[in-house]
Amino acid sequence: MKIIAVNAGSSSLKFKLLGMPEENKLASGVVERIGLDDSIFAIKYSGEKVKLIESIPTHKIAVDMLLEKLVSLGILNSLDEIEGVGHRVVHGGEFFSDSVIITEEVVKAIEAVSDLAPLHNPANLTGIKAFEDALPNVPAVAVFDTAFHQTMKPIEYMYSVPYEWYTKYGVRKYGFHGTSHKYVSLRAAAMLNKKPEDTKVIVCHIGNGASLCAVKYGKSFDTSMGFTPLAGIAMGTRSGDIDPAIVQFICEKENLSLDEVIELLNKKSGYLGLSGLSSDSRDLWEAVERGDKKSILAVEKQAKMIADYIGAYYIALEGCDAICFTAGIGENASETRTLVVNRLRALGVKLDHGKNLIHGEETVISKRSSKIKILLIPTNEELMIARDTLRLIK
Ligand code: ADP
Repeated sequence: MKIIAVNAGSSSLKFKLLGMPEENKLASGVVERIGLDDSIFAIKYSGEKVKLIESIPTHKIAVDMLLEKLVSLGILNSLDEIEGVGHRVVHGGEFFSDSVIITEEVVKAIEAVSDLAPLHNPANLTGIKAFEDALPNVPAVAVFDTAFHQTMKPIEYMYSVPYEWYTKYGVRKYGFHGTSHKYVSLRAAAMLNKKPEDTKVIVCHIGNGASLCAVKYGKSFDTSMGFTPLAGIAMGTRSGDIDPAIVQFICEKENLSLDEVIELLNKKSGYLGLSGLSSDSRDLWEAVERGDKKSILAVEKQAKMIADYIGAYYIALEGCDAICFTAGIGENASETRTLVVNRLRALGVKLDHGKNLIHGEETVISKRSSKIKILLIPTNEELMIARDTLRLIK
């Protein structure tokens, strides 16, 4: 059976077509700049690549085009082969602790929590609607970024603020990247030859967005992102944790609105803010080579924040079997991994500097003598989406 995993953003739509349960990747691609005159449609399949630039005004048209291409390029004989569509949905609030078949009630619940993810949930819903129109008889499943973290306890997810903020407005830690944290923690258990129920791991998902998760016996125990993805460690453009009083202070000093300052914390901070150069790790490491002081500060600050969270989670988990690195930076930037691990000497963690040069494939990158294994595990959120879709439509 063929399942399509979809990640719809406000102006983009990423997709992967998988043969299940074999987990064969049949095609993957992206539609970008939806709504503009020069939209990009790109698809990769069996060693081939097709890229088109033309006007794709809506998500609905993007989906129609994608489905038409799957057949005209010979990837599918007919659309009837698609038996399930899995959608990434960013926020499931407290409604969803697992993936679900999408029904009218589910759509309403996703809408109901949209004020918690105003940029993401409406875009995800646009993708859901577009596939529903195009493939009305194919079951669709929603896979939530927040669901894996619903196992956190109040002591982890509550903020120390007036309690009514939680009961009235749902102010609490939700956490994100749950699909990735779950996938990587499962792979980590497999690499350790243990059952997930017997393992304690810390997953560092370091991409442009970045979060850590303490996974205890297969369940999310704590995570670094919070009520929104702004919390936790420094990221490509997000600040991570700061003193909230800075917000009001900068509003006054720079004569900015609250929204504008929050926008600066989301879009102009992190790597970009400290370096003044770029949000992209490759650019920063080039600048570090040249001795650029602010870029050195940016990468070291992030590594310090990652190491501090690892220390906190090591204590909270009462030890752990492995520390895992994943996502764009975690999988590829051996320099960042080195900076982080250099700060973990107190835990007896030792990096194998030769193995640490590997990128993009599952590898143990710690020395045999390391007290905790360090694992490099490429994430695969689309595969998790396809697995959940298969499980629920069966
Ligand atoms: P997101 O999905 O959050 O947009 P990704 O997981 O794709 O982000 O990660 C993007 C980051 O990964 C960028 O900072 C990029 O520079 C970094 N990255 C990708 N490949 C490499 C590499 N070979 N070396 C260093 N950094 C890399």
